[in-house]
Amino acid sequence: MSAPRSFGLRDADLLRHQPYINGAWASGDGIPLEVTNPATGEILGSVETITPESVAHAVAAAEVAFPAWRARPAQERGALLEKWHDLILQHADDLARIMTLEQGKPLDEARGEVQSGAAFAKWFAEEGQRVYGEIVPSPANDRRLLVFREAVGVCAAITPWNFPSSMIVRKAAPALAAGCPLILKPAETTPFSALALAELARRAGFPPGVFNVVLGDPAKIGKVFTGHPAIRKISFTGSTRVGRLLLAEAAQQVQKVTLELGGNAPFIVFEDADLDAAVAGAIAAKFRNAGQVCVAVNRILAHASLFDRFVERFAAAAAALKVGNGLEADVRFGPLITQPSLDRITALVADAVAGGARIVTGGKPHALGGLFYEPTVLTHAAPDARVLREEIFGPLVTIQPFADDAEAIRIANDTEYGLASYFYTRDLGRLFRISGALQFGMVAVNTPVIASAASPFGGIKASGLGREGSRHGILDYLELKTVWVAGL
Ligand code: NAD
Repeated sequence: MSAPRSFGLRDADLLRHQPYINGAWASGDGIPLEVTNPATGEILGSVETITPESVAHAVAAAEVAFPAWRARPAQERGALLEKWHDLILQHADDLARIMTLEQGKPLDEARGEVQSGAAFAKWFAEEGQRVYGEIVPSPANDRRLLVFREAVGVCAAITPWNFPSSMIVRKAAPALAAGCPLILKPAETTPFSALALAELARRAGFPPGVFNVVLGDPAKIGKVFTGHPAIRKISFTGSTRVGRLLLAEAAQQVQKVTLELGGNAPFIVFEDADLDAAVAGAIAAKFRNAGQVCVAVNRILAHASLFDRFVERFAAAAAALKVGNGLEADVRFGPLITQPSLDRITALVADAVAGGARIVTGGKPHALGGLFYEPTVLTHAAPDARVLREEIFGPLVTIQPFADDAEAIRIANDTEYGLASYFYTRDLGRLFRISGALQFGMVAVNTPVIASAASPFGGIKASGLGREGSRHGILDYLELKTVWVAGL
């Protein structure tokens, strides 16, 4: 099928419309899924979906592929991942364009995501070669005790729409590097980014059945994954609601589960912070991807001594952000993903205002109409306002004052979530005290950047289980096997 004119890709073959199973594009036997451009409302095209029975066939294909894939030397698996990495970078412009069209983020941001996603393929191509075992000092002289790390088996991944490319590579690369075949179910709103990655995996030369993409009813596919005895691990990135559900379902087969769920990140500006840097950092960590980021700032806490100055400067910077179609130059953030997302932001603002919050800037849908919402800053939100308790996932933030470090920590930790947290200070002692006291999986000090292939990414409490990226990211795809050798 040729690319619709609106995609304007250099390599039209990256635009695929079918699930990718066992090394081939599969015919759909489910209800086709339409994909919409959130910036324009235009229908971009549709993809074929499959029934749960066909998903089970994909699992069977992965099961068949597993023994040979696991048996390949890690260097060979790594070489294929390196090829995938190179192809992703070669086609970064097209992949970014597909992403902006179906997801809405600015083109530069989309390109950045494609590149940072590719970095996981390279990282795990190398990390797969460092899956060391152990020789344990034996408790008896005539025995040796060896520990090996082995691939867990067929894995399933479910990914969200907000990072439609990097979330996929972040899961696929460690699975494949470890010797596990993977079946991926991407988000319904952004399947074209996933299928383009599958096309590049095909070109990289992964054997049939090693990397598969299925499309269809999420709840039913989730049940196939959790109900299938061949699937030994599920890696999920998405909402805490669905993560809880999958964790409960995975109990049936006692599958390993990695969960990257929602967040409610605090951003604390201490009285000794570099104010310019804190304002710029908060803008970046709040409004990237229109705030639709799991590590996006949800609540800003500013020390009482600089509260008014911070609010004024932050709100002015927020109001100056250009909102629009991500294909246009200089646009800083695009539309929300769907109408329910926009309605949720409207409801969060109404709830906060009803409880006494003041709107400093924004507070309503953008004049552009459609799914665009103004950059919005609130103060004086009541402690029980939804905007403080829930993950916002939009271009809206509250700022509240605090009197001292103890109060900042109390407010920051007062959430069921524990993913990302940020603070700005120039005091070395405070840096260590506060990062020790924050109950979050990740803490960023004096920077809005909290992720890279090299660092463990993940949360505690209701934000999830396990870590992705870093040398730890491959461990969830491996089991320990203990071998006792006696009679020596
Ligand atoms: P979502 O939970 O609605 O969907 C995520 C994925 O789960 C999608 O592929 C969806 O089709 C699938 N899904 C939905 N219902 C399912 C079910 N019953 N069984 C199996 N799969 C099901 O979340 P979303 O709105 O797509 O993504 C936003 C959420 O993802 C936010 O909460 C965000 O914080 C979180 N997120 C977390 C991270 C992280 O690394 N911690 C990264 C990105 C996004």
